[in-house]
Amino acid sequence: MTDIRVRMAPSPTGLFHIGSARTTLFNYLYAKRYGGKFILRIEDTDQARSTREFEQDIIAGIQWLGLDFDEGPGKSGEFGPYYQMQRLDLYQQTAQEMLDKKLAYRCYCTAAELEAEREQQRQNKQPPKYSGKCRHLSAAQIADYEADGRSSVVRFSMPEKVVAFVDLIKGEIKVDIGLSGDLVILKTDGVATYNFANVVDDHLMRISHVIRGEDHISNTPKQIVMYEAMGWEIPQFAHIPLILNQDRSKMSKRSGPTSVTSYREEGFLPEALVNFLSLLGWSPGTDREMFSLADLEQAFDVTKVQSSPAVFNMDKLLWFNGQYLRLLPQADLISRCRPYLEPQLGYWNEAVEGAIVQIMPLIFERLTKLQDVWSLCDFFFADSVAYDLGLIQPGNKTSMECQQAIELLIKELLNIQHWQTPEIETVMRAAVETSGWKIGELFMLTRIAVTGRKNSPPLFETMAVLGQSKVITRLQVALNKFSQPS
Ligand code: GLU
Repeated sequence: MTDIRVRMAPSPTGLFHIGSARTTLFNYLYAKRYGGKFILRIEDTDQARSTREFEQDIIAGIQWLGLDFDEGPGKSGEFGPYYQMQRLDLYQQTAQEMLDKKLAYRCYCTAAELEAEREQQRQNKQPPKYSGKCRHLSAAQIADYEADGRSSVVRFSMPEKVVAFVDLIKGEIKVDIGLSGDLVILKTDGVATYNFANVVDDHLMRISHVIRGEDHISNTPKQIVMYEAMGWEIPQFAHIPLILNQDRSKMSKRSGPTSVTSYREEGFLPEALVNFLSLLGWSPGTDREMFSLADLEQAFDVTKVQSSPAVFNMDKLLWFNGQYLRLLPQADLISRCRPYLEPQLGYWNEAVEGAIVQIMPLIFERLTKLQDVWSLCDFFFADSVAYDLGLIQPGNKTSMECQQAIELLIKELLNIQHWQTPEIETVMRAAVETSGWKIGELFMLTRIAVTGRKNSPPLFETMAVLGQSKVITRLQVALNKFSQPS
């Protein structure tokens, strides 16, 4: 059996996309499962759109997800360099070999000539396709063009045939490439085009399996005929289905933040993203949902990826993130929350840390992404809380009844010597008896008065952490609101 070698071959023309993260994961897992090698190759031949920032974002994203590569930028490896722009001589050598073997030819057509040809085809209602005019130029014609100083590209002579291959996910695929026209493989500046560079590199890097997005499926037949022409072994292909938004529209940059960086910044954990992405299109065949990367290395099978598109379910991702957040030791969780809290507070000190240690057990059940941590606990730190009087006043109670209830609460709560959850609970329950209010109504009034919201962590624990003076002050503010409604 040949050595398993897979690769991720991103073009650094955008931030690391969540779909590319899934493709990277599937490649990584395939290598791990079969004891192979995972290679990262940067396909930067689109010089106008490739940037160093995007490249770094991609590499940082891959490493953040824990999907480290065996060979690639910054690592040694016998098949480097791993940047296509550093491999131009290899493409030029192969193009020359193709020219020598008459598998390719120099095309001297100018942009204007090509446009005129396309215009003619449009008028004749034919699909646009290069006519192959330069395929059979005589030596004299070539000499004339060269003497004129015309520049040339190298085109691969595409056979007109049906290409068939067995995709590991999609099964047998047959494509008629008769309409493709002769592909430019080397541009006038000597830079290789995508399909050609991709084939040369996959061959030279001994890639055994090409696992990539289904958007490349139309390229595969064009690539296969180049392998065939050169007599090179053809890798196996696995095309991963698209990811759709929940409304089944195609996921694109317009679908909102789709970069791995944006997920990281929002406070998703890499473990959660990896777990979630693994199940986008793949299922273990059981109900089990929680998979660490190490579990996936054992269980994942790319050939079991479904061939229909996978739907991105944000609620599911949030659920996974919550699960992984709750697995973290508290100190770790707090240190991960700090970057989201400190800018809001404007400072960080031992007192804050102490408060967070008390607050965290109250809120972490409801935490789904770290970015939300401030909105779950801001009222603990605020000087005052805001709410509408209408929210706090039960429909069946008058303002006067509300005032009386709050006065009672203040009086009883002030009597507490040891401001702890059990004492607070005892007093609050007694106040229900004394006031004759329904338990839910009195507690809701208290909850809104002290936290400013209807949904908060458990009331007595929250009051305990807030402290007696803050609770009393906030009840007094509520009382004032009732006595001087605006
Ligand atoms: N460079 C291509 C891209 O970023 C990937 C090519 C491939 O995986 O074959 O879409």
